[in-house]
Amino acid sequence: MSATIQTDKTTTQPLNLLGLDRPAMQDYFSEIGEKTFRASQITKWIHQLGVTDFDQMSNLSKALRAELHEKAVIRMPEVALDELSRDGTRKWVLQLEDGNRIETVFIPESDRGTLCVSSQVGCALDCSFCSTGRQGFNRNLSSAEIISQLWLANKLLNEEKKPGRKITNVVLMGMGEPLLNFDNVVSAVRVMMDDFAYGLSKRRVTVSTAGVIPAMDRIGDLLDMRLAVSLHATNDELRNELVPLNKKYPLKELMAACRRFIDKQSSRSRITFEYVMLDGINDQPEHARELIKLLKGIPTLMNLIPFNPFPGSGYRSSPASQIERFSDILMRADMTTVVRRTRGDDIDAACGQLIGKVDDRSRREKRFVEPRFGMRL
Ligand code: SAH
Repeated sequence: MSATIQTDKTTTQPLNLLGLDRPAMQDYFSEIGEKTFRASQITKWIHQLGVTDFDQMSNLSKALRAELHEKAVIRMPEVALDELSRDGTRKWVLQLEDGNRIETVFIPESDRGTLCVSSQVGCALDCSFCSTGRQGFNRNLSSAEIISQLWLANKLLNEEKKPGRKITNVVLMGMGEPLLNFDNVVSAVRVMMDDFAYGLSKRRVTVSTAGVIPAMDRIGDLLDMRLAVSLHATNDELRNELVPLNKKYPLKELMAACRRFIDKQSSRSRITFEYVMLDGINDQPEHARELIKLLKGIPTLMNLIPFNPFPGSGYRSSPASQIERFSDILMRADMTTVVRRTRGDDIDAACGQLIGKVDDRSRREKRFVEPRFGMRL
């Protein structure tokens, strides 16, 4: 026991300031005997001005700069691959310090630019239609690794010097289940929404979950942001098969958690539901009708996602005509429904195609044992 404590004390690695939200940054500066306003100054340098060299931070004293050199770093992953799709989607594969790789995708649209960010190396949830799940799970990303995706994308898009290539929205819909990396995701979202950093409004940051109910409750208490729930099925039998997490958190309880979330948020908020359209599996008119019943009373934005195929998936996307019929039934019931266009599929950047390079350390059959997720709830 004492040996462990000693090890902790002696390995004082320089702290990566990139991942600190403002409360954490303020704590850091008061710990080193500085005024807490240094936190907003340095947040601005890092995230708004893109500066990572302490020497360039001209409003910090020389002594503080020297101290930071000694005790802290601002460090990002390396860009291992940078690809541009013919539709303007740009994908980066980032190499982390331990050799794992994650993916980040920028999706330009006429009125916005969305960055799709990863939260874990791989994913433990094993949804049957998602290629990230097939890779297995390695570990959570640190808050620095999460926010570095926004920092890097912002910088690299700026360098393009082209109009319309600006990040206006962030979705945590890349690799991983954000709500199983709770603390780091909350810190990173705080940085995204901080006026001294990226200043994204609550409607422009979306955390997507397959339905980790205790964490949905807790994030609703901490943050005012958008929640997306990956639904994909209207009854437990089918959802157990597509999203195995459903065995732990079934639909009825999930819907109750969605209602609780909405009650905690500011007015006019709604939940985005994601529904991947699988040919002959969940795309029949009766499924649409069940969906309407299930979501009754929940302010909803329904996102129908044509299935993006990958080798060995065993699924096919519903044909466009079927998706249209499905979406018509929902819209006739006054449900706001959007069919998501497939973007960046020529560079494998579409939903469910992000695989990075994951050294799977999980044992599949054990994936649902609670402590493995390291969730502090
Ligand atoms: N784990 C979180 C975050 C990942 S978001 C979640 O489940 O919400 C990724 C989104 O893409 C999810 O809605 C997921 O269900 C969807 N998706 C996964 N594989 C897909 C595929 N092959 N085609 C289309 N959408 C897919």
